[in-house]
Amino acid sequence: MAGRFAPSPTSDLHAGNLRTALLAWLFARTTSRECVLRVEDLDQQRVAAAHGVANRQVADLAALGLRFDGDVWWQSSRRDAYGAAVARLGGDVYECFCTRREIAEAAGAPHADGHRPYPGTCATLTPAERARRRAARPPALRVRARGVVQTIRDLYAGEVTGTVDDFVLVRNDGVAAYNLAVVVDDLAQGVDQVVRGDDLLSSSPRQAWLALRLGGTPPEYAHVPLAVNTEGVRLAKRDGAVSLADLGRLGIAPAAVLSWIAESLGLAAPGESVTVEVLAERFDPAALPRSPWVVRPPQPGDAVG
Ligand code: GLU
Repeated sequence: MAGRFAPSPTSDLHAGNLRTALLAWLFARTTSRECVLRVEDLDQQRVAAAHGVANRQVADLAALGLRFDGDVWWQSSRRDAYGAAVARLGGDVYECFCTRREIAEAAGAPHADGHRPYPGTCATLTPAERARRRAARPPALRVRARGVVQTIRDLYAGEVTGTVDDFVLVRNDGVAAYNLAVVVDDLAQGVDQVVRGDDLLSSSPRQAWLALRLGGTPPEYAHVPLAVNTEGVRLAKRDGAVSLADLGRLGIAPAAVLSWIAESLGLAAPGESVTVEVLAERFDPAALPRSPWVVRPPQPGDAVG
């Protein structure tokens, strides 16, 4: 039994990411689970800089006192496992030659989460058509889901039901898609508890369906509120001093950042010095603040923690 934190090495972790990592760790630790760390570096595998970012992410989590179990997993080294999963899906995998624009034109308006359900254009191509299209453009691989409806249970959102479309398993550059990699790795790492930002809630039915389809059991889910800036927009690097490195430059040590995040979770008094172990003693999932965390990044001279 394990929980996990699975950052993408696109930039340094900001306060909201660190808070989600802390929550994933607290959920795992307080339910007698291991907590594993997985770097989701599929997109960045050709960019050496991603490695540097990922190593800083790992170091920043350690600086907060978060210890993960086992070795860090790197998705860029798991290609064979993703290929094996595609092979297991056998005849339910088909080649798709559609461009983004073709899908947008055929699928109509995106869903609330920005996802456009795939209209199935390439699901019925003949072998001759496939051969002709392959000459022009390498295919992505999609799974034939037959419009199945899947329900998941989320600790906070309750039952969430989604129609599973023929989503992409492997992109047309040969790289495994997020939805495939996340499911294959969660199963391989024994992850049965997924705690992550609530922007990913709508991806859960398709991931749960794929886990079942691969012979596994979907995890239990807890999607937690994201951090936003003072305008209510999802927190980002451009919002100011939001990473441990930025905060460090303002003289705010990791211990003070942990206090700040703990305070936002109702787990510490303002400025109280805490450790993650103390937070685990206090943690109660039912008491988690349910609205987004509004972050006002500290300014030079501000006293934090
Ligand atoms: N790598 C994803 C992210 O950083 C998270 C994936 C997940 O938790 O399922 O947004």
